[in-house]
Amino acid sequence: MARSGPGYPVDMDLSLLDDFLASRGEPAYRGAQVWEWTARGAAGYEAMTNLPARLRETLAAEVPFSTFVVETQRESRDGTVKTLFRTHDGHPVEAVLMRYRDGRRSLCLSSQSGCPLTCTFCATGAMAFGRNLTPWEILDQALHFRRVEAVDHAVFMGMGEPMLNLDNVLAAARRLPDLGITHRRTTISTVGWLPGLTRFVDEVEEPIRLALSLHAPTDELRSRIMPVNERYPLEDVLAECRRHYELRGRKVFVEYVMLAGVNDSRDDARRLARLLDRKVFKVNLIPYNPTGMYDRSSRGAIAAFKSVLDAARVPATVRLTRGRDIEAACGQLATAPRGRLDRLPQPVAVTQGVDRG
Ligand code: SAH
Repeated sequence: MARSGPGYPVDMDLSLLDDFLASRGEPAYRGAQVWEWTARGAAGYEAMTNLPARLRETLAAEVPFSTFVVETQRESRDGTVKTLFRTHDGHPVEAVLMRYRDGRRSLCLSSQSGCPLTCTFCATGAMAFGRNLTPWEILDQALHFRRVEAVDHAVFMGMGEPMLNLDNVLAAARRLPDLGITHRRTTISTVGWLPGLTRFVDEVEEPIRLALSLHAPTDELRSRIMPVNERYPLEDVLAECRRHYELRGRKVFVEYVMLAGVNDSRDDARRLARLLDRKVFKVNLIPYNPTGMYDRSSRGAIAAFKSVLDAARVPATVRLTRGRDIEAACGQLATAPRGRLDRLPQPVAVTQGVDRG
């Protein structure tokens, strides 16, 4: 992340920070001290009181504490906070802090600026893809909110497809426990990008949770709303999820966004129930947050869908929507849209069952 010369100036990337400290003849434990303060929410180097004052000044002058500029921040009526960051090379990145009544504080983190996949219901999929985020840029989103308050959950459900940037996502996820977010409270969500998913299953021994954005019970429908399905069809992706369960003994969360008249009929629910072994999968029904081209399913349709899954004894819950008034809800993270109509795979007409409640 160095912008010029042999590492100067550097952002507060840990390995670069270690190099910087070493080049100044500082003892090896300084980097760990800086990280410890940072992970606990220190506002800047000046707060790191077990560092010599001169070193704190040098760091403040020469090593930017964050890789990001905060461009805007909005707070929802329900306490949700959405922040738009800008990377040093100008890419937009959004992250969200969700506050729940039971005290949970959950972060929704981005793995990429924009997303190269083009799921038809997702606002991020309609904006231009920027690039993969570095581990430090991913961590920096979490640190930003950690400076505001204690946090205990994280979901990689912001911008981007984590399995397309798996090494960096894992590098960041592996440091989250230092911020107070354990692996069991960290979830990586994927469209089912098989190469990354396979690596995740084979390589990730930590109990980081896996979520699959399924959204349709047949290849025909799934390909229509998620073009990635053409490349990695349903059965292959589900087989990989079953392997995850066999190998790791951990369930896979299935995300299913409820689109009125598209994927929310009782027949769809029956097909879904047939597809999902109840010991492996837990379904999370997501009320659609309108981003342009679909309508959200009515509450009645969602309840009916859930009751079919209940009857088949497939575990299912309905996701609580947070932050919709500030476009911070699922699928609403997007800046600089590149024009949805230019990139639709095929027309999908949907107009019924609107319930904006
Ligand atoms: N690319 C990964 C990570 C993004 S997660 C993935 O797709 O899993 C974002 C989650 O929100 C996904 O389940 C996605 O399908 C869902 N989502 C996208 N747009 C949405 C919208 N407008 N309303 C509700 N959920 C949406």
